[in-house]
Amino acid sequence: MTDTPTQLFIGGAWADAADGATMPVDDPATGEIIAHVADAGAKDAQRAEEAAVQAQEEWARTAPRVRSEILRRAYEIIVERTDELAHLMTAEMGKPLAEARGEVAYAAEFFRWFSEEAVRIDGGHGVLPDGRNRMLLSRRPVGPCLLITPWNFPLAMGTRKIGPAIAAGCTMILKPAPQTPLSSLALAAILKEAGLPDGVLNVVTTSRAGEVCEPLLRGGRIRKLSFTGSTNVGRLLLAQSAEAVVRTSMELGGNAPFVVFEDADLDKAVDGAMLAKMRNMGEACTAANRFFVHTSVAKEFGRRLAERMGALVVGPGTRDGVDVGPLIDRVGRAKVEELVADAVERGARVLVGGRTPEGPGCFYPPTVLTDVASDSRLMDTEIFGPVAAILTFDDEDEVIRRANDTPWGLVGYVFTEGLDRALRVSERLEVGMVGVNTGLVSNPAAPFGGVKQSGLGREGGRVGIEEFLEYQYLAVPVR
Ligand code: NAP
Repeated sequence: MTDTPTQLFIGGAWADAADGATMPVDDPATGEIIAHVADAGAKDAQRAEEAAVQAQEEWARTAPRVRSEILRRAYEIIVERTDELAHLMTAEMGKPLAEARGEVAYAAEFFRWFSEEAVRIDGGHGVLPDGRNRMLLSRRPVGPCLLITPWNFPLAMGTRKIGPAIAAGCTMILKPAPQTPLSSLALAAILKEAGLPDGVLNVVTTSRAGEVCEPLLRGGRIRKLSFTGSTNVGRLLLAQSAEAVVRTSMELGGNAPFVVFEDADLDKAVDGAMLAKMRNMGEACTAANRFFVHTSVAKEFGRRLAERMGALVVGPGTRDGVDVGPLIDRVGRAKVEELVADAVERGARVLVGGRTPEGPGCFYPPTVLTDVASDSRLMDTEIFGPVAAILTFDDEDEVIRRANDTPWGLVGYVFTEGLDRALRVSERLEVGMVGVNTGLVSNPAAPFGGVKQSGLGREGGRVGIEEFLEYQYLAVPVR
């Protein structure tokens, strides 16, 4: 970890911020500062933009096979360095090492997938209805991109954007979250080693997000914004993008319903709940936020879930045998505490957890609440912590209506042994993704994304690269 870069990456070179500013990165398990990284300002953003704009034309002309092989090499380097990258991620973000290794593998897969997609960008040819004119369609990179990522998946949220941008022939500026800049800087070093030309990827770490990003979005030279983060910030960035009509992809917040019907296999449902709730300590946009369980099985489901949640070991992510690391910071933990207190005030019962431990680090115990009232704040707020809130329902129409009664629509989970019901309910849920008898939907080969206020566009899958491509149509009369 001592050789992890801590400077900005601009035009293929490492540099301090123009005003020499740095910002601390701390370990959420101990509160100790583990590094100081460059803290970019507006001048650095301008330099990064200049580098991306300068590199764009030649990069767009670079053969798809060359772009593909850079991604493939980077994929191989990431896999080789899994352990090193996992330790870095755990140190800055807190997730247990086993989960960090899982994220490294997931992140690497985006590079492998898009190395395969880079050489499959196709165009088209058509005879127009008049029989004379021909239409030639070609695909072109959208141009220099701004990529903004959150802290919860420090490596994978980067590769999910950088992979398709490289494959499509776009240059880019990556602005990672200030809590987790080290994984992005390590990724930039890997891409340089894999042969990425100077200026194609630029990384600006900063605690001054608005000062760095707003001029880029309004300036007219950045042609695309790909953002992953909260709906509130996404809304602000959409407004800023409107001025220069910047194309946008938005991966925003969620409020996932997790529905357990009376005919569900409860073993599958509890396994699915553990995954959908506890992956990343509940700090995931895909985290199950509202558990709707049929009245006839609610007691048994709650008992089994509380037993599993109560058996999880909480502690620093680097320690052997730990299942649940700290939350990202004290602000995140305070929000979870407030949501639990509010639910309890409105009548919820705590089956397990619910008490903040003493001592250093931002730990919060796995918690199961039952008899949660529908007007509790956690029903319309992303909990972003290890808290499962159980409500009951009696019939299918009712649960679909309640599941859809939210401005978000990222993902939903449905547990039933009836194929008919699984399809019928999935089709009526207003979400971009559904886990049917599973608590995990993320896969680089599948289109990830939401509807309603959970976002615009998709990442991964065959369509992931489309977000970074434009059509050009040539009209060719044939006489
Ligand atoms: P956030 O506060 O929205 O921040 C996300 C990123 O946006 C950070 O890099 C942040 O930097 C930056 N940002 C904030 N204000 C900005 C501004 N005015 N201009 C430019 N950049 C700005 O979200 P978060 O707390 O880091 O992440 C959690 C959220 O992300 C949750 O809502 C979660 O659901 C969502 N998420 C969605 C997906 C998905 O695929 N749909 C995946 C993962 C996470 P600063 O921190 O410096 O402000």
